[in-house]
Amino acid sequence: MLFNSRGVALILAAVVAIVTTAFLTLVPDVSSQALLVTGLLSFAATYLLVFIVFEFLVIREIGEIYKLLNKIRKKDFSFIDGEKETTVSNPLKEINREIYNYAVNRNKEIEDLKKLEAFRREFLADISHELKTPVFAAQGFVHTLLDGAVEDKKVRGKFLKRAAKSLDKLDYLIQDLLTLSQLETGESKMHLEHFDIVALANEVIDQMENKAEKKGLILKLDQPYDEPISVYADSDRIYRVITNLVSNSIKYTDEGLIDLGFTLSGQNVKIQIKDTGVGIPPDQLNRIFERFFRVEKSRSKEKGGTGLGLAIVKHILEAHNTNISVTSSVNEGSVFSFKLPLSNQEIDQEQEVELFEEEI
Ligand code: ADP
Repeated sequence: MLFNSRGVALILAAVVAIVTTAFLTLVPDVSSQALLVTGLLSFAATYLLVFIVFEFLVIREIGEIYKLLNKIRKKDFSFIDGEKETTVSNPLKEINREIYNYAVNRNKEIEDLKKLEAFRREFLADISHELKTPVFAAQGFVHTLLDGAVEDKKVRGKFLKRAAKSLDKLDYLIQDLLTLSQLETGESKMHLEHFDIVALANEVIDQMENKAEKKGLILKLDQPYDEPISVYADSDRIYRVITNLVSNSIKYTDEGLIDLGFTLSGQNVKIQIKDTGVGIPPDQLNRIFERFFRVEKSRSKEKGGTGLGLAIVKHILEAHNTNISVTSSVNEGSVFSFKLPLSNQEIDQEQEVELFEEEI
């Protein structure tokens, strides 16, 4: 084809050779041999120059750009193998780099969208399944009663109680889903305040002690804490976090004890909930914070779990700019821990002044 680098080089070389030779004819007494040599030399030099410039600087780069665009059009991102260099002087190379970076970003967006789509599908399937179970159970009891069982007083009471239990489960599930969605959308704001975390943990222990005792478990602080430990956080949410973690420890521990402890480190306090329960296999440790993930599905359901407790814990702690850690050994137990910021020095000093004044 004429408009490739060779064709363009040929035309330009011929034009330059003709013009140069024509100019040379204006000079008096120039031999035809000299004209021929000049014409040939200027033809060869121009041809080489134009060909090299076109081939290596223009056509090749345009070819690369075209190939790249073609692949992007076909959604084939296999050419991406890392970041391209950031500074180049050649404008065509610059365009090529821009397109490459654009493709990298597009590819990432597409991957993210695919993941989101898979997550949405999975979540819809999970949620339908979770809702279906208590609804079907309650529906079954109510229909059996309507079909005549209502006449039998003994059966009526039993079935109504079972239907109510299933509806309660449905209620817990919906409440947890609402909490999770409000936390995710940032709709529910954190109300930060200064409070004593030891007192809060004691409240949780008072609340859950009965449940632990029923299973023959001991629930306590790991040691006496005579001084209050003041933290700056949302006390209601942290109450929920500790309650969820203690409730799980009770659910997944058959014998032994559950204790809560505090360790001061710099500007933070680490809160730790330790149990001697069934533990979690190492390959599942990082999945337990996913919605509806259960290590043993039947065991968790039979214990009334919604499968959302740890997802809620994770979100509440993330909203406090902190996160939850877990270590666990199967059949030995688990330790869940998280950090909270201690109340700042100013507040501590104010409290100290108040205490000092009280003492006087
Ligand atoms: P669930 O309502 O099923 O308890 P969670 O989100 O609270 O849901 O916990 C997710 C899963 O993590 C549980 O089903 C259980 O398998 C595992 N798990 C959580 N806490 C503990 C624990 N203290 N000991 C052993 N397994 C636990």
